[in-house]
Amino acid sequence: AKKEGRNHVQFYQKGLGKNLSNRLNLEKDLRYALERDELILYYQPLVNVVKGRIMGAEALLRWNHPKLGIIPPGEFISILEDTGLIIPIGEWLIQEACRQQNIWVQKGLPALSVSVNISPVQFKSNILVKAVNNALAHSKLNPSFLKLELTENMIVNNIGETLKILNELKHIGIGVSIDDFGTGYSSLSYLKKFPIETIKIDRAFIKEIDYDRQDQAIVKAIIDMGRSLKLDIVAEGTERDRQIHYLREVGCETVQGYFFSRPVPADEFEKQLFPWNKL
Ligand code: C2E
Ligand code: CA
Ligand code: CA
Ligand code: CA
Repeated sequence: AKKEGRNHVQFYQKGLGKNLSNRLNLEKDLRYALERDELILYYQPLVNVVKGRIMGAEALLRWNHPKLGIIPPGEFISILEDTGLIIPIGEWLIQEACRQQNIWVQKGLPALSVSVNISPVQFKSNILVKAVNNALAHSKLNPSFLKLELTENMIVNNIGETLKILNELKHIGIGVSIDDFGTGYSSLSYLKKFPIETIKIDRAFIKEIDYDRQDQAIVKAIIDMGRSLKLDIVAEGTERDRQIHYLREVGCETVQGYFFSRPVPADEFEKQLFPWNKL
């Protein structure tokens, strides 16, 4: 593939990281991605449809590869995890999200929380609390505006250690969301054991929520349970207003999905922010 002419521009193809030699090339390039400023965060709004305003943003990692263009995280997160690069890059992610949020605060934009995805490898590494503390100290961000997104499977192993980390995060004052809720293989008892603020219902259950009776039953049950446990509830992957209509009817006020916006770079996110909050 290297034999192509000098001016030939390659474009990123889906499934890139599945081929071994591609994967090795990506791995080599990834080692320099951070120092070469090729990693960027895109932001997608979490919208409260009852209040009609943006409540926060989820930060989603992108790799702006010099030859291949913008590569989505599904193609390289596992490489970061296997190589341990997720540790320094994970620290950078938290810092970068706090830095961006601080810029928005400085600009006088409405207060938004920013959510950062945490890898299982990062969670197990014992540096998470330190990374969060550093990022907060650096940006002087109000801790209540930072949220970490964890998955069920990450927190059900090693309950004692998990509880310790989650309590430390709570003590710092940041919120924890359970991402992809409903897709893990765990009992729900952790919901009362652990200090959790938000559950994000996985897109798999939302996809056909406007017409599939079984998905409706499942999602309604999740919402009822979440509300009685005083958890915030977010529905992921909302693409159609019918989905949002149904969710609203059963008591889910906050949604995230292409209907309102795809994940976009920070400057684009800013442009969207003002008009929306004037609604
Ligand atoms: P996730 O945390 O569940 O993030 C939501 C994914 O769903 C994002 O894909 C987002 O672009 C996509 N999405 C949002 N709304 C819609 C919709 O309406 N329809 C559809 N079809 N998709 C929607 P993305 O950005 O490609 O991220 C994929 C996964 O990669 C994330 O899933 C997360 O698990 C992981 N990831 C992304 N950024 C990071 C990061 O900074 N650190 C770590 N550890 N993982 C990350
Ligand atoms: Ca997430
Ligand atoms: Ca998710
Ligand atoms: Ca997911």
